[in-house]
Amino acid sequence: MATGQRILVADKLAAEGLAALKASGMEYDEKIGLTPEQLAIEVPNYDAMIVRSNAKVTDKVLENPGRMRVIARAGVGVDNIHLPTATAKGILVLNTAAASTLSTAEHALALMYALARKIPAAHVHVKGAPAKWEKTKYQGTQLAGKTLGVVGLGRIGQTVAARAVAMEMKVLGYDPYFQSATALDGKVTVIKDFDEFLKQLDVITFHVPGGAETKHLINRERLFNGTVKPNLLIVNDSRGEVIDEYAIADALKEKKIAGAALDVFAKEPPPQDHPLFGVENVVLTPHLGASTDEAQTAVSVDACTAIIAYLTHGEIRGAVNAGGIKLDLPPDEAPLADLARRIGALLSGYSEGGFKTITLRASGPRAPKIMNTLLRLAAVELMKPHMARGVNVINVEHLARERGIELVQIHEAQPPAGLVGDIVGVRVDQEDGKSHRILGTAYADRLPRVLRIDDFAMDMIPEGHMVVIVNKDMPGVIGTVGTTFGDAQVNIADMVISRALQQADGTAQALMLIKTDQQPADAVINRLKARPGILLVKTVELPPRAS
Ligand code: NAD
Repeated sequence: MATGQRILVADKLAAEGLAALKASGMEYDEKIGLTPEQLAIEVPNYDAMIVRSNAKVTDKVLENPGRMRVIARAGVGVDNIHLPTATAKGILVLNTAAASTLSTAEHALALMYALARKIPAAHVHVKGAPAKWEKTKYQGTQLAGKTLGVVGLGRIGQTVAARAVAMEMKVLGYDPYFQSATALDGKVTVIKDFDEFLKQLDVITFHVPGGAETKHLINRERLFNGTVKPNLLIVNDSRGEVIDEYAIADALKEKKIAGAALDVFAKEPPPQDHPLFGVENVVLTPHLGASTDEAQTAVSVDACTAIIAYLTHGEIRGAVNAGGIKLDLPPDEAPLADLARRIGALLSGYSEGGFKTITLRASGPRAPKIMNTLLRLAAVELMKPHMARGVNVINVEHLARERGIELVQIHEAQPPAGLVGDIVGVRVDQEDGKSHRILGTAYADRLPRVLRIDDFAMDMIPEGHMVVIVNKDMPGVIGTVGTTFGDAQVNIADMVISRALQQADGTAQALMLIKTDQQPADAVINRLKARPGILLVKTVELPPRAS
C-alpha cells in the first residue's frame, strides 16, 4: 500500500521498527549522521522524522519545516529536539517512554541488590591482583523484610514496587500526584508527607521526572538532620538532579547513610573528580537503565508505530508537546470533536475576528473530559482565516499566546437551561467589545447540531454551504431572501428561522440559518445585504457531514 507519506530515519534504529514502517506502506529513507545543516535541507521533504539522541534537531533545522508534521524520539530524553520551535511550527514531538519501563525497573532492582550485597566491590576483590577471599568484609544486607520507599508511582515506580512486593519487602510510595491512599491493590501504602515517608525507609528508589519540583529531594539537610536511618540505601535510576550527589558523598563518609547506587548524574558523564568516585559502598553505572536489547527493539518499534498511528489516523501516542490532547477519540466522543470544529468554523464566519478571548464551555457526561482538545480544535478554525502561517492543534496555543488571544475552558456543572446531554459552547470576545457565541450538541445519531447562535435558538446540522442572515423581524424579509436566491438559481436545501428577544427599541430581530446547494456568488450576497431589514449576511463553508 503506497500512502505518499515519507519518513526520514535520521538515527540508527532496530530492524524491527523499520519492518513496521515497511509493512505500513510508507516510504522511508535512512540518512544517518547528518549535520544540522544537512538535516535542515532534508526536513521539508518529509512528513515525519525518527531520531534517537545523535541527530540534532535544532531550531535552525525546523525553521522551514515544509511537510514535516511529527518527530518521534526513539527513547525518552528530547534534549536533542528544539521543542519550542517544533511546537511553534505545529510539529508534534513524541517519545517512547513506556518502551524502557521494564528494563529500567530491572536495572533499579539490580542496583538495589548490588548495593545491598556489595557485589561490585566483592567482584573486584575476588579477581583483583592478587586475588583475595575475605568474606566478612563483604557481608551484606538482606532485602526481604526491609522497607522500600518508591518515589514516583508512575510506570517505572509501580513496576519496581510490584517486584519489590514479590521480594517480600514492605513497600511505601510517595507521589503527590497519586490520589489513592494505596497502590497495587493495597500492597503499597502511599505516604503524603515526604519526611514522614523518608524516616521509615531502609531503601529508597527514585522514579520521578526531572525539573525544579524534584530537584534535590535528597539534600544535605535531610541527610544530616536525623531524618534518614543510618542503614539507608539510596538508588537513583531516574534523573541526576533528583539527589544532591555532594551531600550524599559526605553523608556516606560520615556514616549517615549506608550506600548509594546511581545510574544517572547531574552532569553526564560525571567529572573526573566526582565526589562519589572515591567513596565506599557506592555503585555507579553509565546511564544503562534502558540499555537492553529488548528495550532498544521496543523503542524502535514504538517510535515507528507511533509515527504510523499519527500519520494514518491522527492518533497521538507519547506526545511531549501536545498539551494532553487526544485526536483518536472513541466513537461516543469523536462527534463532539467534529462539533467543536464546525462551531469554530461557523463562529469564525459569523464574527468579525480580532479576538481577545476564545472560551470553550462544556457540560454533560463526555465533553468536559476532552475540553482541552475541543478548545484547540475550535480555536484552530477561528484563527485559521486570520493567519498566514499554518495553524493546527499543536501550535494553536502558542500562536494564540503570541497574538495576545486568551484561550479559556470552563466546565459547566449543568447544561444551559432547557438543554440536556453533552453541550459544547464556544464564545469569542472581540477587540471591538462585541461577543458572539455558538453552542451545540451531538445526539445519539452522532451528528453535530447547532442549538444556539447568540440568543437565537435552533436545531440544525452545520454542513456544506451555509448562509447566516440577521434581519429585523418584519414582514417580507423571508420572501426577499427566497426570491434573491431563486433569481440567482441558488437552491435552498434547508433553512431555520429563529426570532430572538425584543430589542430595547421595541423591535425584534430574527436569524436565518440557511443551507444552499451551491455556494452563492458574492454578487448575490451583496444584493441581500442591500435589501431593507437585512442587518447582516455572512457565508460559511463547512465540510459535508461525516459519513
Ligand atoms: P512516569 O511519568 O510514568 O512517572 C513519573 C511519576 O513521578 C508520576 O507518577 C508522577 O506523578 C511522579 N512525580 C512527579 N513529580 C513528583 C514529585 N515531586 N514527587 C514524587 N513523585 C512525583 O515516568 P517513568 O516512565 O516511570 O520514568 C521515571 C523516570 O525515569 C523519568 O525521569 C525518566 O526520565 C527516567 N528514566 C531513566 C532511564 C534510565 O536509563 N536510567 C530510562 C527510562 C526512564
